[in-house]
Amino acid sequence: MISGILIATCVVAGVGIVIVIGIILGIADMKLHVDVDEKEAAILEALPGNNCGGCGYPGCSGCAAAIAKGEAAVNQCPVGGAPVAATISEIMGVEASDSKRMVAFVHCGGDCENAQQQYEYNGVADCRLQMQAPGAGSKTCSYGCLGGGSCVSVCQFDAIHVVNGIAVVDKDECKACGKCIDICPRHLIDLIPYDAQESVACKSQDMGKLVNGYCKVGCIACHICEKNCPAGAITVENNVASIDQEKCTHCGTCVSKCPKKAIQAV
Ligand code: SF4
Ligand code: SF4
Repeated sequence: MISGILIATCVVAGVGIVIVIGIILGIADMKLHVDVDEKEAAILEALPGNNCGGCGYPGCSGCAAAIAKGEAAVNQCPVGGAPVAATISEIMGVEASDSKRMVAFVHCGGDCENAQQQYEYNGVADCRLQMQAPGAGSKTCSYGCLGGGSCVSVCQFDAIHVVNGIAVVDKDECKACGKCIDICPRHLIDLIPYDAQESVACKSQDMGKLVNGYCKVGCIACHICEKNCPAGAITVENNVASIDQEKCTHCGTCVSKCPKKAIQAV
């Protein structure tokens, strides 16, 4: 009789414990449950997954979260370009905005033949270290490409290479992620439209007389391009020409008129 009561008590206690554990687990699940944002997941799926940070967010998941919250544009990912922007626009239910393809361009034409060297640099191939070398690099021009290839080392797309002492972008491979722009200690790289046909391959702010002394293709700020551009797309400021790609009509006048060949057909 007593053992029967004991068994019944144990069974009731056991059932009670199971119910209590169930309630605790249920509360814990409610507390710890993280809502999966379906839009965010779909956007992440649409992004290329390079995690390059070219969008300005820490990886694709950060970018996806920002787009889903409306804090970033549907074309925030420079790597995915227009096709990815179109997919994300659909997910977000907004109009796909025009996203012009951009590519990196190195504003320097001072290669081994064109630019004067102060000495031969045989140190580590790292532009930031080269900036610590005497004269802030081996080239006489203190604005030109150092050729150490720091930009090459950060490009995940094999789109930039050092050719004959200067960095050159392969525009068909470039995804405009901006990594090379961020690392270049000479601030020589900018994004230009993929369909740009002319760009100034110089950023020297030295006086023309000095530039003439150290680089065969450096801008001497003669203003010839500025005066001859029929679209008014060129301005010379701080001793260097620059092209407003929004105004440029690709007539090529500047390329043919520049006495220093500082404006390249790209
Ligand atoms: S573009 Fe800048 S980072 Fe690239 S090789 Fe030239 S100086 Fe170095
Ligand atoms: S014509 Fe050539 S050298 Fe003269 S300002 Fe223009 S880019 Fe510079």
